[in-house]
Amino acid sequence: MSLSGRVLHAETTTTTHIALFPSAGMGHLTPFLRLAAFLVHHHCQLTLITINPSVSLAESRFVSRFLSAFPQVAHVQFDLLPFDPSTAKSNDPFFIQFEAIRSSAHLLSPLLASLSPRLSALVYDVSLISSVIPVTESLHLPNYVFFTSSARMFSFFAYFPAIASSSGALDSALLGDALKIPGIAPIPRSSIPPWLLIPNSLFAHMFSEDSPKLTKVNGVLINTFKGLEPEALDALHSRKHNEPEFPPVFGVGPLVPLEFEKEDQYSPAISKWLDEQLDGSVVYVSFGSRTALSRDQIREVGEGLVKSGFRFLWVVKDKKVDKEEDEGVEEVVGKELMELIKEKGLVVKHWVDQGEILGHRAIGGFVNHCGWNSVIEAAWHGVKMLGWPQHGDQKINAEVVEESGLGMWVKSWGWGGVELVNGDEIGEKVREMMESQTLEVKAGRVREEARKAAEIGGIREKMFKELIGKMEQEK
Ligand code: UDP
Ligand code: UDP
Repeated sequence: MSLSGRVLHAETTTTTHIALFPSAGMGHLTPFLRLAAFLVHHHCQLTLITINPSVSLAESRFVSRFLSAFPQVAHVQFDLLPFDPSTAKSNDPFFIQFEAIRSSAHLLSPLLASLSPRLSALVYDVSLISSVIPVTESLHLPNYVFFTSSARMFSFFAYFPAIASSSGALDSALLGDALKIPGIAPIPRSSIPPWLLIPNSLFAHMFSEDSPKLTKVNGVLINTFKGLEPEALDALHSRKHNEPEFPPVFGVGPLVPLEFEKEDQYSPAISKWLDEQLDGSVVYVSFGSRTALSRDQIREVGEGLVKSGFRFLWVVKDKKVDKEEDEGVEEVVGKELMELIKEKGLVVKHWVDQGEILGHRAIGGFVNHCGWNSVIEAAWHGVKMLGWPQHGDQKINAEVVEESGLGMWVKSWGWGGVELVNGDEIGEKVREMMESQTLEVKAGRVREEARKAAEIGGIREKMFKELIGKMEQEK
């Protein structure tokens, strides 16, 4: 496998037949399909199970590109039972899809049983644990969870039952000012995903139902590596050592952008613009695939970028789901600001090839929400970050960004949408990040660790071999 991340097609396959079952959203699908590519490289036979229709266009396009690049991977579409969104615990379309999949998961049984050759294992998304386990148990099929966030977040997920109240939500009194989980730095109360403090919220429900079932899971895959998260991986390793029924954790990262992902609709224009910029001079700003800032906040970001004095490539998102994006970039950003921006930066409002952008020599920093895939991609390219966590696991991931040296984040900015962060402050922090030599050096070290993990004979390959070896033994 080359460092560009290209996966060679295997000429032969073993009889390790793995079914992969991702859930909704690019943050889940992307690492799954990268994982799939690596499993093909390691000679596994794969069946990919997807839901049709997907929530976003980005997901269906991504699956198509994957399937054209890997014709040897079998594809099965899984039809969901009708699901009434008004009964859902969340009004977020991606999370409604989680619930819809959970309530249809029992139908996986006949599908999985019919696959040939007989499956060695099912690898499925973290959001589906309690609904999938009865299925794999009835089929005597080993089950592996792909946890699509950081190892630090997984430590929290695994520890959750110890601090949950009977309502399923986190017990405020047990939590205190900070959550102390053995082996990892305390998680401040302000970093805890807010939903987990709300009884009956979807995530309080999922964490309290699913976490205790980890003892029934054969293994957990995380897109991380020891050079990035030594503390959390060691803590999970020693937990397994002390509690043998706790599943082994495989840090299979870094799962980096691969050839098949390239989408060339807009890339040439972006590459052309980046080619004209000086090395390390551009700040890249993106909040991932599903985070839309408010119009007011978008405008403050624009003003901040102009004030930072740096050139920038800024991806604007106005709607959570791409299918609903209906306004042009000028309408969203505002005409006046657009005029100012034109001299300094490139602003787009569509899907971009983030892997390619982060690897461009002109990019010197990354303003991002700390979605875990983005963190791994920044680590891979050694691009220093200004984290601006917005929701869910993102503050816990931002703590990893800070601790590893990959970047900084501003704790006082709070969760997304709660307070309006003003442009002056944004500009100042962008400048601080872009001018920081210390961060530059540290991010370079993280890159070296990532490259070392991904070498032939490195820890990533070792993890894949251990994982597949375990699956073969369990057959
Ligand atoms: N991404 C991309 N282009 C975009 C937006 C997102 O390639 O315009 C990719 C990004 O590189 C990452 C994934 O989509 O691999 C988003 O996952 P992440 O965990 O960073 O955040 P989420 O979108 O789930 O909040
Ligand atoms: N591990 C991991 N990802 C890594 C490094 C380690 O998941 O990048 C896990 C994995 O389960 C591995 C175990 O930690 O088998 C032990 O790895 P380590 O290199 O620390 O060796 P040991 O502690 O057995 O000496």
